[in-house]
Amino acid sequence: MSEFQPLPGAALDRCGLNRHAIFDLADLPDDVVDSIVDGTAGYRQLMLIGHGGRALWESVKKSGGAGADPIDDFTVRTIRQWMSESLPDNRYAILYPGSDNIDLQRLGALAGWHHASPFMVGIDAEWGTWYAYRAVVLADTHFAPSQAVAPGASSCFHGRINPCAACQTRPCIAACPASAMADGTFSLQKCVVWRKQADSPCAFTCLARVACPVGSAHRYCTEQLAHTYSISLQTIRERY
Ligand code: SF4
Ligand code: SF4
Repeated sequence: MSEFQPLPGAALDRCGLNRHAIFDLADLPDDVVDSIVDGTAGYRQLMLIGHGGRALWESVKKSGGAGADPIDDFTVRTIRQWMSESLPDNRYAILYPGSDNIDLQRLGALAGWHHASPFMVGIDAEWGTWYAYRAVVLADTHFAPSQAVAPGASSCFHGRINPCAACQTRPCIAACPASAMADGTFSLQKCVVWRKQADSPCAFTCLARVACPVGSAHRYCTEQLAHTYSISLQTIRERY
């Protein structure tokens, strides 16, 4: 018999929170654990929960989609309900949403989800760039940990490699109207200036991202794209 608890992930899958990675805190790099401001005493594991594709957006819409950040609000509600119904005997604390100290891409790389793309959005072979980190949860659970990946390794625990490494034509670079990747690195400044223009075609989307063929079956709908990019445009307007 397995020494591990079964992960009751199907209930999360049904809501579109369909990516789960489990880390034993003891196996995480020290700086990752040290970045957890309130400490980890009493907890054994860290869960990284994400969404891939359009299912989460559909669930958020069905739920009414109200609030300042309807995706975060839905995610927190769903995880609290999931924990109380599926894991009532386990303690937990939701670190994200709620803390800016969590390096989500670092956790994503450790999980094997994140590979760098030319436009700095994470990519993997299955979902392309059409996924995101939705929650980080500490728990005193005893799930089987996901197999970690060594820092700097080119392949993740699913045996995948960064799809950009095999992409000869790189259509994302040509699709960017700001030529933000033309020099071989990503120019945030060029992207920001372009997005802030009146009637910018990149106000509510990223043409480079849309041009990538990897995982295109999971590409967000126009409405989901507009929601995502309206948040980043607001941040740009406040900071630049
Ligand atoms: S178009 Fe090619 S280089 Fe650009 S993000 Fe997609 S796979 Fe990577
Ligand atoms: S948002 Fe527009 S300007 Fe910025 S990287 Fe994407 S395509 Fe280029």
